Amino acid sequence: MLGPVILAASRSDRMRRLISAAPVTKQVVDRFIPGESVDDVVPIIEELTGRGLELTMDVVGEDITTPEQAGAARDAYLALVDRLRDLGLGERVEMSVKLSMFGQALEGGHELALANVRPVVEAAAAIGTTVTLDAEDHTTLDSMFAIHEELRKDFPQTGCVIQAYLFRTEADARRLAAAGSRVRLVKGAYKEPAEVAYQQKHEIDKAYVRVLRILMEGEGYPMVGSHDPRLISIAQELARQTGRKPDEYEFQMLYGIRSDEHLRLAAEGHRMRVYTAYGTDWYGYFMRRLAEKPANLRFFVRSMVSR
Ligand code: FAD
Repeated sequence: MLGPVILAASRSDRMRRLISAAPVTKQVVDRFIPGESVDDVVPIIEELTGRGLELTMDVVGEDITTPEQAGAARDAYLALVDRLRDLGLGERVEMSVKLSMFGQALEGGHELALANVRPVVEAAAAIGTTVTLDAEDHTTLDSMFAIHEELRKDFPQTGCVIQAYLFRTEADARRLAAAGSRVRLVKGAYKEPAEVAYQQKHEIDKAYVRVLRILMEGEGYPMVGSHDPRLISIAQELARQTGRKPDEYEFQMLYGIRSDEHLRLAAEGHRMRVYTAYGTDWYGYFMRRLAEKPANLRFFVRSMVSR
């Protein structure tokens, strides 16, 4: 029951101000968002790649309100690509972007987001890596898929995300499971109405398995984004049934969540990518992590009252 309340709070400016200013928040936030700048996260990138993991980097900051901020978001990603090139880690580290941060919700936002994301995709390709377009709330998805399709004309390796909780996703998966595509499947992290999305955990889990089967049986490259042990073993079984080799799909998990499992899967020979977010505007990302697991909220509240 707490999850939807926290997700509603994630859209509230008042809560944003309150929580962002809370004295101990930063310490709790660090578990999920381990730095504010590229300099902060370079040691983490080096450490995780050194342990056999791959990464996808997310510069947080979806709640922008001006085209200038959208341009700054693009520049932050370009600076990240520069650092990855200098580190020689282009092939191990990709980027995840939220089109909202590139201006999608502003006036003329579809074109603006496409214009801002294209140079990032180009720069990524130049160092041997790629970009995945994250899935945000359902009202943004037609625009996201259209931008994805447009980018794939020149950069076919550009990935996108689909969310098992949405009714539309099975059809999206069928369309996307074609040769050369890269598709991350997740359960979905936004507050969605019952007209468009399953609300019950067991329904979402069942939908996840149906969609995963479509991706595994298809010709694209499935990226299994989940920490759910049951879904991870089903994914392994589906990969076996569909004859996929370890380099023909990958697992993805979020930084700070089930870190032992990241290493265990990598040690078993799976490709394991850790989604690592950084930046100063962490509120939306952090609140979604709280909503996913109410125990996180208890820990957060305890850390505030125990001061
Ligand atoms: P759950 O059933 O929620 O969790 C399974 C177990 O994992 C839990 O029992 C718990 O032990 C652990 N766990 C899960 N979440 C947490 C947490 N926050 N804190 C502590 N433990 C936790 N969603 C989108 O809508 N769009 C995206 O683009 C997107 N990208 C993602 C990228 C990656 C790599 C991943 C892993 C997730 C992404 N998500 C995205 C979030 C996703 O939709 C889910 O909200 C999130 O993954 C939780 O679902 P789960 O599959 O891990 O299963």
